[in-house]
Amino acid sequence: MDYKLDPVNEMIVKAARDFCDQEIMPIADQIVEKNDYPSDLLERFAKARMLGLVIPKEYGGVGSSNLNIILIVEELGKTGTVCAWPMTMNNSTAETIYHWGSEDVRKTFLPSLCDGSAYASTAFTEPATGSDPTLITTTAVPDGDDFVINGTKRYITGGNKKGYGVFYVRDGELKDQKGNITAIIVDKSSEGYSTSEPWEFMGLEGMNCVDVFFKDVRVPQSNVLGDRGNGFKILLRWIAGERIEQAGYMLGLGQAALDESVRYCKERLVRGKPMGYMQGIQWMLAEMKSKIEACRLLTYRAASVQDAGESVEVLSAELKIFVVPTVQEITRLALQIHGSYGYSKEYKVERLFRQAAHAGVVASSSEINRTIAGAALLR
Ligand SMILES: Cc1cc2nc3c(=O)[nH]c(=O)nc-3n(C[C@H](O)[C@H](O)[C@H](O)COP(=O)(O)OP(=O)(O)OC[C@H]3O[C@@H](n4cnc5c(N)ncnc54)[C@H](O)[C@@H]3O)c2cc1C
Repeated sequence: MDYKLDPVNEMIVKAARDFCDQEIMPIADQIVEKNDYPSDLLERFAKARMLGLVIPKEYGGVGSSNLNIILIVEELGKTGTVCAWPMTMNNSTAETIYHWGSEDVRKTFLPSLCDGSAYASTAFTEPATGSDPTLITTTAVPDGDDFVINGTKRYITGGNKKGYGVFYVRDGELKDQKGNITAIIVDKSSEGYSTSEPWEFMGLEGMNCVDVFFKDVRVPQSNVLGDRGNGFKILLRWIAGERIEQAGYMLGLGQAALDESVRYCKERLVRGKPMGYMQGIQWMLAEMKSKIEACRLLTYRAASVQDAGESVEVLSAELKIFVVPTVQEITRLALQIHGSYGYSKEYKVERLFRQAAHAGVVASSSEINRTIAGAALLR
């Protein structure tokens, strides 16, 4: 068993670090202030060959691996910005379209998701439900060659950015509860498609999560992914990958929290000496480091299993059960080490702490992950 990254992986990490230094860190504060990122952000990712990472080259992709996505996401997480999210959303939504879409659908939608001219979304949450997508009420009623969609989606990342989204809708003609969810690609500039202002969260500034309103939006039936009524299966597969990407992001936040803490311990004087001399502080740093390494191994392994083509539905839930509270505790320790400065917006750890808070409730909650992993043990 080899736990080392290969030379290509190492090259990707180096490229991602350079990208973060040159393209992301200079705009990090601006994103928080404006609660938005620059409109050409995805094009910057595309130039750096960080979109369409697992999409074959013939559709404009890079033909790389899920592990390489995670390595990039980890570096983006270290910046403490939301920039990982538009990037992962384009990568994961494109992968869903590639995996389930017809040849025509692939050719129509993948190139612009890979070159960064289109922003992707994936939408299942609604005002009345997030954890149980079988209860969604947004309807798609067949009419000629189209579906006519009506309803409201909630917290849709990038729902307000031009491009395409995979939307999960209740298929009007089908009966069974799970079996009438259909996944369909919607052009976000369609007539009748509108959005709210972005939600303001305790962190993740610039996430661009909006409510999406459908008023008689016509979408060609040919935009359906897989078979009609197969949407629940498509969603479960997508969200499993999303959990691994989220773990990669958390890993980056945790590593940044440790790096900031080590630096602070060397600089800050307590009783006339750099505060790292205190054994209690060293123990905190040691605990943070060992836990980050454990998170890293689990996350890389999950991505490698995904690359091997195996199901990661249960593994990704187990991954989040460990990584989410572990990194949340690491960012809390970082804040503690910084004393009151850690509570101040002038220090990066304040932002890292707030960013980490999202992960227990987004892309399947901690309770849902326990339900998935626990039920799997009893099957
Ligand atoms: C920053 C951010 C980005 C997001 N991006 C997107 C996006 O791009 N697309 C999208 O579709 N959604 C998105 N969401 C929505 C998010 O995925 C949902 O909010 C999430 O799935 C939880 O749903 P909910 O808030 O409706 O909670 P609910 O489902 O109402 O759950 C409430 C509480 O009950 C618990 N609970 C629910 N069911 C069970 C159960 N069976 N057993 C035990 N406990 C249970 C939950 O764990 C939670 O603690 C985003 C949210 C945020 C904050």
